[in-house]
Amino acid sequence: MKLTNETKYSTEDLRALFNAVNKHEGAEPRTLRVFTAKVPSWNAPTAFCMVLRGVAWSGSRHIDMGIPKHLLDVKAGIDGPNGIVKVPLLGLDNPQTKMVGQVYMHELAHIRGIHKHKEMQNWTSLDAEYLNGMTVGLKKSKIKKVRNLKQERYIKALTKVKAYKTKIKRDTTLMEKWLKKVRYYEKQ
Ligand SMILES: [Zn+2]
Repeated sequence: MKLTNETKYSTEDLRALFNAVNKHEGAEPRTLRVFTAKVPSWNAPTAFCMVLRGVAWSGSRHIDMGIPKHLLDVKAGIDGPNGIVKVPLLGLDNPQTKMVGQVYMHELAHIRGIHKHKEMQNWTSLDAEYLNGMTVGLKKSKIKKVRNLKQERYIKALTKVKAYKTKIKRDTTLMEKWLKKVRYYEKQ
């Protein structure tokens, strides 16, 4: 399965989660794309399960999974001074991870050839107990290399001094050579 991760969630964690479902279901898509599902800002406070979504065409080998990166806070939505407040998700805790797994199980059923929703169990009632304990963290942010400007400027100054020393040495040699000639002619 080729996984394309367009979210801020850890690719390793997502892969572990979806592979656990693949193994449990005994099937897997050829390709899986995970993207950030947008939370509608105009909407009423929105639950995770309402934003989370999956798409798979029956008989195809591709699944799209949309996972929100934040939610609209219910309490803030009611009491907040600016109306609805977006709350960042700092990763997917276990209930959320299980929900992602359940939606994915539903999509995987389409991949396995089940076409009609009438023939399927509601995704929220799919057994995902085997995903207990799994969580999905955020991608580890790359540590920014701190530039040491003082050190860089010191090295630049050292290089300049070395270059001028070489130039002065060369010019002195040339000057002495010409001075010798001057003295020679003055003695005549
Ligand atoms: Zn469906």
